[in-house]
Amino acid sequence: MFQAIREINRNIGEEERVESTSPTREEEPEGVLFGKYEIGRFLGVGGFAKVYEAFDVVTKQSVAIKVVSKRRIAEARLTAQVQREIAIMHRLNHPNIVKLYEVLATKTKIYFVMECAHGGELYDRILNHGLFDEDHSRRCFQQLISAVQHCHSRGVFHRDLKLDNLLLDQDLNLKVSDFGLSATTDQIRPDGMLHTLCGTPAYLTPEMLAKKGYDGEKVDVWQCGVVLYVLTVGSLPFNESNVPTLLRRIYRGQVRIPRCVKPDLKRLIKRMLDPNPKTRISIDEILEDPWFRKGYREIKVQQKNPEWEDEDRTKSLNAFHLISFSSGLDMSGLLITDPEPEVSGSVERIVSKETPKSIVEMVESVADRDIVTVIRKQDGWGAKIEGHSGNFVILIGVYRLTDELVVIEVKKKEKDEESGAEFWEEKLRPRILELEYKPE
Ligand code: ADP
Ligand code: MG
Repeated sequence: MFQAIREINRNIGEEERVESTSPTREEEPEGVLFGKYEIGRFLGVGGFAKVYEAFDVVTKQSVAIKVVSKRRIAEARLTAQVQREIAIMHRLNHPNIVKLYEVLATKTKIYFVMECAHGGELYDRILNHGLFDEDHSRRCFQQLISAVQHCHSRGVFHRDLKLDNLLLDQDLNLKVSDFGLSATTDQIRPDGMLHTLCGTPAYLTPEMLAKKGYDGEKVDVWQCGVVLYVLTVGSLPFNESNVPTLLRRIYRGQVRIPRCVKPDLKRLIKRMLDPNPKTRISIDEILEDPWFRKGYREIKVQQKNPEWEDEDRTKSLNAFHLISFSSGLDMSGLLITDPEPEVSGSVERIVSKETPKSIVEMVESVADRDIVTVIRKQDGWGAKIEGHSGNFVILIGVYRLTDELVVIEVKKKEKDEESGAEFWEEKLRPRILELEYKPE
């Protein structure tokens, strides 16, 4: 019966995706990537990515590296989506959500270095070993709801919570991955509703089918309901090979729950698969549900580095844009210089482990007050240096790249080649280069 899930996922709208991932020899990564990660076994393939296990050559820590081709992303016009995925993963910090450690890039590829989920896909596990017992299914479901609750608290709605995005670690704890489709509150229209039709048919919700706007929280509840059904019953709740019939049943919320399912669990599934999103159970109500509550221990979420807490999201988007989609960058030798012909001047960027505060303080400390004035950016993420002669301006911008790394961007604008050259070449530039992060 699980084969049917794969089939449905395949049959409908997946041809394109499958074809676009067909491997070609030259694309296989091997050896040591960026002198830092030794590539190991192949873990899986998704819509646009191939995923490999890898080992940090220094710490020996095992990670998963998702390799995405920039060309394919650009061809599929998914640049914005990939940027969104990165920004989203940075916003989340939960034990049941796959962590993103860093993003590396070459001219042609982007590498997402992530936490490795050693237990593989939840789906494969059930397929090969059968259903978990009730307590373990409940534990997985509790972890899922806790992860989803965390996402919602950060303004992120997954909308693609299906079995292939649910991975397991070696202790069979749940790890939610693949935020490729997730919508953030930024995409919500003024009426508060999301408007993109997306997701896999078997997991589509009635309100998505109605093509009205929908409430991201209630979509995630429905999809968690589908996962709960699969976890405890062993088949999809809406499982028809005939697509119109499948869609009709979803639309009407016609779900058959086998008799063997206990009444309290049955009630919860029914409330999650309520076709009316307004009366459908909310995450807060699920947390109070008797079946759910059994043995539930609230999962403590580590606070993020406070320096990043109120950070403007666009910063990480900008940083990603700079790094991956501009001139093409090999992060092992991180200094890039792009001349910008329309302004007289240039842009240089490096990656650093410093905080925005310490970067700006360094800039202030080297600036000679007789020659230049330094004005901090209001949010503290950079500074403007103006030459007193009025002949040059240096703009320093700091953009977040990962939890640990930032990009320092320096734009110089000068009236003639000579102006500011001494200050820049001899004072500021060497100090900025000292801040560069150099992976071993
Ligand atoms: P896509 O975004 O292209 O759909 P996914 O993120 O779904 O790619 O990854 C494809 C497959 O690779 C997954 O279904 C899973 O089998 C495997 N995989 C992805 N991320 C990890 C991870 N962090 N640890 C272990 N396996 C992973
Ligand atoms: Mg996927």
